[in-house]
Amino acid sequence: MSRDFAVARRRMVQEQLQGAGIADRNVLQAMAAIPRHRFVPRVFQHRAYEPCALPIGYGQTISKPFTVGLMTALLELQGSERVLEVGTGSGYQAAVLGRLSAEVVTVERIVPLALRAARELAAGGADNVTVVPGDGSGGLADRGPWQAIIVTACAPGLPEAMARQLQPGGYLLVPILHDGEQVLYRYRRCGDELAVERGTVCHFVPLLPGLEAQQHA
Ligand code: SAH
Repeated sequence: MSRDFAVARRRMVQEQLQGAGIADRNVLQAMAAIPRHRFVPRVFQHRAYEPCALPIGYGQTISKPFTVGLMTALLELQGSERVLEVGTGSGYQAAVLGRLSAEVVTVERIVPLALRAARELAAGGADNVTVVPGDGSGGLADRGPWQAIIVTACAPGLPEAMARQLQPGGYLLVPILHDGEQVLYRYRRCGDELAVERGTVCHFVPLLPGLEAQQHA
């Protein structure tokens, strides 16, 4: 079985990542090494290397391999960064980031998902990744600033608080709802300014507002 997974994983990297234009060697190596099947529920393990998102329970999904590869490559990590991820989900994206940076803190509002991800990450030896259960819609100011921030849920607009927690030169990667379509945006802090690049159309679950915001809605 684990040999089957290894074969499927190699094909995933060749066909879904390299074949689709992802050339960053570090990203390819990380995704070739990390057992994606461990991050999906047992009933879906045999489909872990297919080119699609999969349910992980609680109405959430693990993103398809191409999306994880693309977003990771867009962060252009050098290895020394402290990275914030909002939307831990399965923990797979965090595991990939952990291989390519110094430290990852990842926030998940659904506590059972956060606990399951933390368990898998620990079992896989990702000891530079910390899962924080709770609301990450405002970033995580008390542990910032961050050299990179990645949001793996779709925000209604630029998350201003996260932008403020970004170090100069750092990227904030976030899907934003725009004219009924989700678009991946990459912001970069340059002094007091934010440079913005518009990327591809994408499909994520919504980034939910914090409890306080929900109470006032
Ligand atoms: N990166 C994940 C996939 C993300 S699914 C992976 O590799 O599997 C998006 C996740 O964002 C969901 O688990 C959802 O619960 C979480 N989420 C949505 N709004 C959030 C918020 N305000 N704070 C923290 N997590 C949030």
